[in-house]
Amino acid sequence: VAEAASPQESAFEQALRPRTLDELVGQERVREQLALVLDAAVARERTPDHVLLSGPPGLGKTTIAMIIANQLAAPLRLTSGPAIQHAGDLAAILSGVNEGDVLFIDEIHRMSRPAEELLYMAMEDFRVDVIVGKGPGATAIPLQIPPFTVVGATTRAGLLPGPLRDRFGFTAQLDYYEPSDLDRIVRRSADLLDLQVSAEASAEIGSRSRGTPRIANRLLRRVRDYAEVRADGTVDHAIAKAALDLYEVDDLGLDRLDRAVLDVLCRNFGGGPVGIATLAVAVSEERETVEELAEPFLVRLGFLARTPRGRIATPAAWRHLGLTPPAGADA
Ligand code: ATP
Repeated sequence: VAEAASPQESAFEQALRPRTLDELVGQERVREQLALVLDAAVARERTPDHVLLSGPPGLGKTTIAMIIANQLAAPLRLTSGPAIQHAGDLAAILSGVNEGDVLFIDEIHRMSRPAEELLYMAMEDFRVDVIVGKGPGATAIPLQIPPFTVVGATTRAGLLPGPLRDRFGFTAQLDYYEPSDLDRIVRRSADLLDLQVSAEASAEIGSRSRGTPRIANRLLRRVRDYAEVRADGTVDHAIAKAALDLYEVDDLGLDRLDRAVLDVLCRNFGGGPVGIATLAVAVSEERETVEELAEPFLVRLGFLARTPRGRIATPAAWRHLGLTPPAGADA
């Protein structure tokens, strides 16, 4: 989603990606269900059901798509909804698909409507009609596609139209990770990076990672820099805390955007309700970034509530900012 990663950061993420379901930390239920889907397909020598992964950014959707291809020993093709604006874009991709391929479509909810219709035909019947030409001279050319597996990723399954959603035989909803899982992810990454990190330090980094593995790895990288420049390279609790404070990650893991949203909501709009578009303008961010990145985490913490009239700050949010909730807001 909207967070841009630098090339160095992408290479770093790549190096830390689990390659098998066994290496994947947490998400036990999803792991077990997916293992069954994949093992059954391998045993039957059939392509597995199409898989839909939903959840906030950075929880492992791309990682799981890669694992699926890896466990099936199948090639993975990667594309994304925004790259598929015309049905023809999708037809071109589908015409290159080989039997058993895994086609990963990130942000699948952002495909155009005609492309969506073509996709669900392909997913159901392994054939599509490609329309060539316009007006009365247009002809439909049938295109057969060998059996393949679509892995779709979306921030919310509800953003997909019903008919497309129904074509997925297996849907997994990824949820924010527990601090203990994030602690394990930090320790695993530290091992891979040959970095000495104390138990308190990995727990501290894990608990400030907003439930998100990508952020856990990103914070570890910042902490590593700090430890190398300001100390002897090993990461103890004091170093981890000092580095995280320097990067303005607070003890609940709220980052600058999260705090800006709460701040604007409480200080400028008296706690709301405020529409998401106004809120996004007020913090100078894209609406999607606020809606997909900041909001789900703030809702989860009980700091923000969505109401039909807009977003409101809860009394806990006021207190987190060190402010007194307005009279009557205390529930
Ligand atoms: P986006 O929505 O932005 O595409 P995503 O949900 O696809 O994000 P990934 O890119 O798969 O997220 O994961 C981000 C990083 O977090 C990866 O580098 C990966 O190493 C790490 N990661 C994700 N899930 C796990 C996990 N369960 N165990 C260990 N590491 C994980």
